[in-house]
Amino acid sequence: MSISVHNLTKYYGEQKAVNDISFEVQSGEIVAFIGPNGAGKSTTMKIITGYIADFEGTVQVNGLDVRTQALDVKKIIGYLPEHNPLYLEMYVREYLEFMLRAYEIPPPFTLTIDAVIEQTGLQQEQHKKIGALSKGYRQRVGLAAVLIHNPKVLILDEPTTGLDPNQIIEIRNLIAEVGKERTILLSTHIMQEVEAICNRVIIINNGSIVANDHAAGIKQSAAKPPLLVEFLEATSLADLQTISGAGVVMHISDNRWLIQAAGNDDIRKHIFNFAVQHSLTVLSMHEQEKTLEEVFQQLTK
Ligand code: ADP
Repeated sequence: MSISVHNLTKYYGEQKAVNDISFEVQSGEIVAFIGPNGAGKSTTMKIITGYIADFEGTVQVNGLDVRTQALDVKKIIGYLPEHNPLYLEMYVREYLEFMLRAYEIPPPFTLTIDAVIEQTGLQQEQHKKIGALSKGYRQRVGLAAVLIHNPKVLILDEPTTGLDPNQIIEIRNLIAEVGKERTILLSTHIMQEVEAICNRVIIINNGSIVANDHAAGIKQSAAKPPLLVEFLEATSLADLQTISGAGVVMHISDNRWLIQAAGNDDIRKHIFNFAVQHSLTVLSMHEQEKTLEEVFQQLTK
C-alpha cells in the first residue's frame, strides 16, 4: 500500500497553495509531513484522500487514481481531518456502527467494533456520548472511526494538536502501534513526535517541498553544526577568529568556545593546528548537533 504524488499543483482561485510537489510513501512507512501553517499540508492531504478533485498532477494510492477512482481510494484509506469532526450527540458505539454502515460493510458489527474499541483503549467510554468525553478520548474516537474499515493507508492531519502532554504520548503510542502494519502520512507541529515515530520527514514550505529525508539525514544536510571546543588554558576571541575557515566564534564559559565554520569545510584540523601554534591543550571538541526544530526553522523561515 503506497502513496504516490507526482507534480501536484493546486490553486485556490489565483492563489497557488501547492506548487509542483512530488513524493512517495512506501508500504509500511510512517512519514511526517511538516511545515508552517498555510504551507499546503492539509490541501495535499485532502487531495490524496480524494476530497479535492480539482488539481494538476497525478496522485495515486496503491495504484488507484484519486481523481477518477476516489470512491475506491476512500475504501482503502483512513483519514483523520484536522480538528477531528465528530457527532457529539452520538454514543461511541453508535457512531462506530454508523461509520461501518457508511462504508457499506455488512453486519454483524459487534466483533469489529469491540476490536477497534480495544485497540484504541475506549473500553471505559464506549457507552458514553461523544460530547461527554475529554479531548484525548474524542481523539481516540476519531482514530477508532478511521480504523473501523481496517484501511491500510492512514492520513492523519495534526492528530495530537490540542491535547495535553500525557494525551499526546498516548495518541502517539497508539499511532506507532497501528502503524506497524499500515502506511501512514502524518502532519504535526511536534518535532519530538516526528523523531519518536516517523521513518522519514517531508518538509513543505510555501507549497514547495524543501526537504525529504530521514530525520538524521535532514539534520546532517543542514549547514554544518558549530563545534563546541574546550581548551585547558585561556585564549581570546581575537585569537580564535584567526583560525582558518572559522566564522562566528562565541564564548560559552571559562575555556569553552563555540566555533562555527564559515563555509562547509571541516575546520577541526585547523583548530588543532591553532592549538599547537598557541601552546593550547584541546580537552574536548564535538559538533553541537542541531535539533530537528532548529533545522525546520532554518528551512522554512
Ligand atoms: P496547512 O495545512 O499547511 O496549514 P493549507 O493546505 O490549509 O496549509 O493551506 C495552504 C494555503 O491555501 C493557505 O494559504 C490557505 O489559506 C489556502 N487555502 C486552504 N484552503 C483554502 C480554501 N478552501 N479556499 C481558499 N484558500 C485556501
